[in-house]
Amino acid sequence: MLFSELAHYFSRLEETTKRNALVEILAELFSKTPEDEVASTTYLLQGRLAPFFKPIEIGMGNNYVADAIARAFDADRTVVLQRFDRLGDIGAAAREMAEESGKAPRPEDTPDVRAVFDTLTNIATTSGAGSIERKVGDLATMLAQLDPLSCMYLCRIPVGKLRLGVGDPTILDGYSFAKVGDKSLRKRLERAYNETSDLGLIGETLWREGIDAVDRLSIQIGNPVRPALAERLPSAEAILTKLGPAAIEKKFDGFRCQIHKLGDEVRIYSRNLEEMTGAFPEIADATLAQVAAETAIFEGEALAYNPLSDEYLPFQETTRRRRKHNVADTALELPLRLFAFDVLYIDGDNITPLTYTERRERLQTLIRPGDTILVSEEIVANEASELITVFNDAVQGGLEGIMAKKLDSPYQAGARNYNWVKLKRAQSGELQDTVDCVVIGYIYGRGKRSAFGVGALLVGVYDQERDIFPSITKIGTGLTDAEWREVRERCEPYVSAEKPARVESLLQPSVWVEPEVVIEVLADEITRSPVHSAGMNGEKQGYALRFPRLISFRDLDKRPEDATTVQEIVEMYGKQGAKPVPA
Ligand code: ATP
Repeated sequence: MLFSELAHYFSRLEETTKRNALVEILAELFSKTPEDEVASTTYLLQGRLAPFFKPIEIGMGNNYVADAIARAFDADRTVVLQRFDRLGDIGAAAREMAEESGKAPRPEDTPDVRAVFDTLTNIATTSGAGSIERKVGDLATMLAQLDPLSCMYLCRIPVGKLRLGVGDPTILDGYSFAKVGDKSLRKRLERAYNETSDLGLIGETLWREGIDAVDRLSIQIGNPVRPALAERLPSAEAILTKLGPAAIEKKFDGFRCQIHKLGDEVRIYSRNLEEMTGAFPEIADATLAQVAAETAIFEGEALAYNPLSDEYLPFQETTRRRRKHNVADTALELPLRLFAFDVLYIDGDNITPLTYTERRERLQTLIRPGDTILVSEEIVANEASELITVFNDAVQGGLEGIMAKKLDSPYQAGARNYNWVKLKRAQSGELQDTVDCVVIGYIYGRGKRSAFGVGALLVGVYDQERDIFPSITKIGTGLTDAEWREVRERCEPYVSAEKPARVESLLQPSVWVEPEVVIEVLADEITRSPVHSAGMNGEKQGYALRFPRLISFRDLDKRPEDATTVQEIVEMYGKQGAKPVPA
């Protein structure tokens, strides 16, 4: 397919405000996409050159892209930068320059998707002396061969501004509709996605070998597995009634890590599948020293540890370690410990189908004794009192609560179900768990707060079935001045002139924000509400959070699709008010 044709699809996707229409356009695009382009088209749709977990960055900011535009259209760099200032979008500047140059080729004479993708990949992998010059030169050559609309979209890719609002589940639906005309393949595609996290690989396998080959895709070293997640139950009794005798572990409030070992090579992935190996050198070293297998995938919670006070530090402190600079200094000041809690793969065997008990046994022998990686302790509880003892012990030690695990359950990638259940401490009059929300808009305030340009935040949760973000509450009080400023800064790049396609809200904020920024919110209660769309689905009442307050920014370890789901909200609504342990 010509890149100019793909650019037309980008433009249709960008103009769409309805999720169903996104799927239709994608299905049309994919049904015309040849098998050797389906992976690259998929990555480009998300403004990328590889799946999320591969840290391939193009490494060109607005200024270098402006240089390339100037060179492509024989213009002065300052003219390009003036356009950029006026239009606020380097892509729009490129389009104008291409139109005015009068040199634009006819669309049918322009390069195909493959050629553009390969050029961008070349640019991304060029490094060393003179690399900037080569990057600018390659981009300029490509721009000179493209029509104005294609120039616009091409220039948005290096600067990370190609935001078409197409989420991963929407792409999977697009594949299914393109192949069979409905979404009946979605479940099978989703299983492969949960185990490999690579949409391009799934698309290419489906196109080349069909759905049965997709069914054979499975866990592999180097592809992060989407994590198994925990459900909530309101009390110790409810947990044991649901799970039967269960393994009880302390719940550590740190940073979830999935560690892949392949011989001497170690990769560490975060909760949202980003590669974080560079930030956690002592865990990588300890993996080589302590893991008794050639290849392995295991999971644990990393916590910063203060050797002077012999204390573990909370999430906020641990996340300081995620800042990539000064890793060596912070590693000394706040070394990490990893509490390993599950294992998925050992020496070529995918062991996720084994029971929890069997996997724990494998984990015990996999991890050799050492200072950095510890296997988290567990007891098997038959009675509520045994569970409560661990819970109280955890809370006294400053931890959040416990995790209960069903003894005969497999590891189900990407699933939130009752194989794992969390029980957290809570103040009376508060929900037992925080809710991860996504900012979808803000409302300008009056008075002091207007100094920060924000008066209240409109936030949503994730409707997994429909792959959209319906509103659930407004957060207007309780933020410090610094937090308002931070909200504003984080949301700024995602401000949108129109309601984003995957956002659903009856309220109209002053400014829409693309669903990108994840915040953790604590509320007193979930109520039914005619104002918010979460869970409304054509009915008169949705669900809302009462007295919400910001606890932390979570976009470091959560993608918007990792936010709390509507389905979870409905369940939390039904369970609220119970006490985790008897008073
Ligand atoms: P989630 O990760 O489920 O979306 P969340 O980020 O809000 O939710 P919690 O619900 O508080 O986190 O807890 C689940 C997380 O707890 C797991 O993802 C994992 O990172 C962490 N965790 C801590 N201790 C354990 C443990 N012993 N076993 C499993 N997970 C644990």
